[in-house]
Amino acid sequence: MFETLKPAPQDKIIALIAEYAADERDSKIDLGVGVYKDATGNTPIMTAVAKAEDRRVKEQTTKTYVGMAGNVGFNNAMIDLVLGDSISRDRVRGAQAPGGTGALRLIADLLDVAKPGATVYLSDPTWPNHVPLMQAAGLKTATYPYFDAETGKVKFDELCAALEKMTADDIVLLHGCCHNPTGANLTNEQWDKVTEIVAKTGTFVLVDIAYLGFGDGLEADAYGVRKLASTLPEMAVAASCSKNFGLYRERVGCAMIIGANEEVANITFSQLLSAARANYSMPPDHGAEIVRIILNDDTLRKEWEEELSQVRNHMVTIREKLAEAMRQRSNSADFDFLAEHRGMFSLLGISQDKVEQLKKDFGVYMVGNSRMNIAGLGVDKIDQFADALVKVTR
Ligand code: PLP
Repeated sequence: MFETLKPAPQDKIIALIAEYAADERDSKIDLGVGVYKDATGNTPIMTAVAKAEDRRVKEQTTKTYVGMAGNVGFNNAMIDLVLGDSISRDRVRGAQAPGGTGALRLIADLLDVAKPGATVYLSDPTWPNHVPLMQAAGLKTATYPYFDAETGKVKFDELCAALEKMTADDIVLLHGCCHNPTGANLTNEQWDKVTEIVAKTGTFVLVDIAYLGFGDGLEADAYGVRKLASTLPEMAVAASCSKNFGLYRERVGCAMIIGANEEVANITFSQLLSAARANYSMPPDHGAEIVRIILNDDTLRKEWEEELSQVRNHMVTIREKLAEAMRQRSNSADFDFLAEHRGMFSLLGISQDKVEQLKKDFGVYMVGNSRMNIAGLGVDKIDQFADALVKVTR
């Protein structure tokens, strides 16, 4: 069985982590892997998470199965968190899934049952895992224009033109906020326009929201997904708690589906749960229970929201200081987009050769498409990084 197998292509980020670890320079900077780091370079357990975890250990009385939808209290809290009062609850259902990735896969499986082999349009560029994930479920993938590497902004007119051409048989995947890898996001007015177009074409919308609260705040970041939910008859949302609760390894996500009415929502949900049954039966409970406890406890929730604000402000500070450092060194506004972008990433739009040069000559590690993890930089390394970036881009 195995003799004919060839090695799977190595994951680029995993390879980068190994290269970084092997680099002996003290001055090296890791802007690769998509994990938040605080000012000391750590990825801490949030205090609200640690407290909820303690409570779970003390209070949980059984480890019996939870059911295919996972932790129901978690699902309800996540629907409230992401969708707010944009939609009546009889039309929306949620299933806990192993991470945002698991939620995306459940929804992809569901969509392939509803419309076998349909095409999912992905932003150019997008989170690389979107492609194999959608294809593994049987769907086809194509791209829509999104990012202008020259200006660091969204190519909004081209995006709209592409959306206009999609049909009611197509699916479009939109990043809810904090676009990965580019960091360039839609304004509220642009979300309104996108909603208007997809409402007209009938194209099915899947929103991937993996960084809620990392951009401009929990409410502000939910503007787009809520606008769509309040307007469209049907849609799906894949939410992740990996980043905003710092629960990466616990694998916590939620797949939400919205139906035109309660009956359609129930039938669709039964198909979503069948996909869970065929994939892994039931999701692990631990991380979801932590999120449920936090979101349902006023004190813990306040503590979590405050910590999330610190995380967000830390990244915005780095963005502003870095843009200023680049302005001074390059005598231009070419890197001002860094301060306008939101979320953990920005795509610098420099060539792969320059990315290599940053690594070789300056010990700066980032993904080959020039995506940098803003949180990986830390305030103390801004000048060092800006000096290097100016040298390679001059
Ligand atoms: N979607 C996007 C855009 C992401 O960047 C990520 C993680 O990096 C995910 C989904 C999935 O995250 P996880 O499966 O770790 O919750």
